[in-house]
Amino acid sequence: METKQCAKCKEAKALSGFYPTAGGGYRSQCKECEIAGVMERERRRRGTFRQKCVAALDNSRHRTRKVEAETGRHIENTLTLAEVMLIFAAGECMYCGTTLDPKELTLDHVIPLREGGTNTTENIVAACKRCNCSKGERPAFYYVWKMQNPRSAKKLFGTLAMRQNTHPTTIMRELRQQAQEYGNGKGGAAQ
Ligand SMILES: [Zn+2]
Ligand SMILES: [Zn+2]
Repeated sequence: METKQCAKCKEAKALSGFYPTAGGGYRSQCKECEIAGVMERERRRRGTFRQKCVAALDNSRHRTRKVEAETGRHIENTLTLAEVMLIFAAGECMYCGTTLDPKELTLDHVIPLREGGTNTTENIVAACKRCNCSKGERPAFYYVWKMQNPRSAKKLFGTLAMRQNTHPTTIMRELRQQAQEYGNGKGGAAQ
């Protein structure tokens, strides 16, 4: 019986214990080692994802307490790790739709903390760093409107409606109202 030594576990195994390559040969590691490798990478990837979520959660809680101290306003701060994992799970920015690795995504407060927003799943979406930066302290509706991006606006309203168990139109009205107040306060109306 023809055998081949696995480059990983160093065991000599029958050729049937290796995956064939397109070129007619066999891969250097045995099937068991390859599968173990895939599972290890997957385990590490999930660990990284969880770490990223923990860090984002900590950061959001910290920022909330900071704004609370600065403004003297009590801010609801009930976001959980499971919710952050769910928010990042889709792996895309709510505003521009770019698909990104979770470590490139940030948590964005739809209504900024300083503008009356809360640190809860009802007020948080995933955003790429670029969108989060350029949105800054502006309310989401204001930002989406500036971007002239009806698709991401629709997605945003739909996502928040699902989380708040209400209708997208209700969310749209609330956010528009909020953006108008913001716009008036900053000397530039949001519509
Ligand atoms: Zn092996
Ligand atoms: Zn983006």
